[in-house]
Amino acid sequence: MSGGAVMKLQAVCKYFPITRGLLRVKVGEVRAVDGVSLELRRGATLGVVGESGSGKTTLAKVAVRIYRPTSGRVWLGGQEIGALPVSQLLALRRRIQMVYQDPTSSLNPRHSLRRILEEPLVVHRLGGRRERERRVAEILERVELPADFRFRHPSHLSGGQRQRVAIARALILEPEVVVLDEPTSALDVSVQAKILALLRRLQQRTQAGYLFITHNLAVVSGMATHIVVMYLGQAVEYAPTAELFGRPRHPYTRALLSAIPVLTAEERGLIPEYRRLDGEIPSSACIPRGCRFHPRCPEAHACCSREVPPEVAVGPDHTVRCWLYAGGGDDR
Ligand code: SF4
Repeated sequence: MSGGAVMKLQAVCKYFPITRGLLRVKVGEVRAVDGVSLELRRGATLGVVGESGSGKTTLAKVAVRIYRPTSGRVWLGGQEIGALPVSQLLALRRRIQMVYQDPTSSLNPRHSLRRILEEPLVVHRLGGRRERERRVAEILERVELPADFRFRHPSHLSGGQRQRVAIARALILEPEVVVLDEPTSALDVSVQAKILALLRRLQQRTQAGYLFITHNLAVVSGMATHIVVMYLGQAVEYAPTAELFGRPRHPYTRALLSAIPVLTAEERGLIPEYRRLDGEIPSSACIPRGCRFHPRCPEAHACCSREVPPEVAVGPDHTVRCWLYAGGGDDR
């Protein structure tokens, strides 16, 4: 791994078999993630953006080893974790944590916040009772919730407060990497902004790397240093955030940018006008030949439906998977 990298994925694939009948005969496979490489730096945020069905949540689950990759390699720090046996996963959980979209379903409604926040410390045998109490009080303060909230239950909190608790539970173990899977999409816009600001403040303090999964480019624009755009299991564009917004290359990235809602004429001026997308993302069990995006691409040429575009560099730290930049195809 290069200096400063805290996590690296190399050519990671995750396929799920499709089976039929009592004998569960394999008749196909869902290629949810198909050859994705990325690198996350300490104290930085990498946005992973795509529609529902793009494979971004499966990628997140491979990164935290909820799923074992079908092939490819995953490193956390200097350790390869992709092939770790189940018996070693508990130690791994301390170093990489996940925050989910819906805090209501991820917090036990029967437990007090004190018990919810203390539980990871108990599971990992960290500190005695007093030490655990001190750390619960400290983490509540860091996520800006009053100390007496530790006696409350999740049902007595607002959605934003519940997400603060979910963040606190993830951070109490001081992980090196936090995977944030749509952490604000269940919240009102004003609450979203507060949670994003809180995540930024916490990151400055902890220097954890954030892998931020979202369908909404606008949400990560103020937070991510780099963005990966995913489509049907592949990374189709990767760039520093300002570059991606200022000079998007892939037609799919341009379509995502066009879909960002704007409030004022000034904001409209900041976002280039591109053609919006028609149709739905196809199933990962039935991936189109050639470029996966060609059935929906407004700039598709005949070669796009025949040949898979290579990944090419279009600038420093900027790659794109599209024939428009690869000079390929005999009929273009
Ligand atoms: Fe569109 Fe062709 Fe580029 Fe795919 S390779 S995004 S179909 S122009």
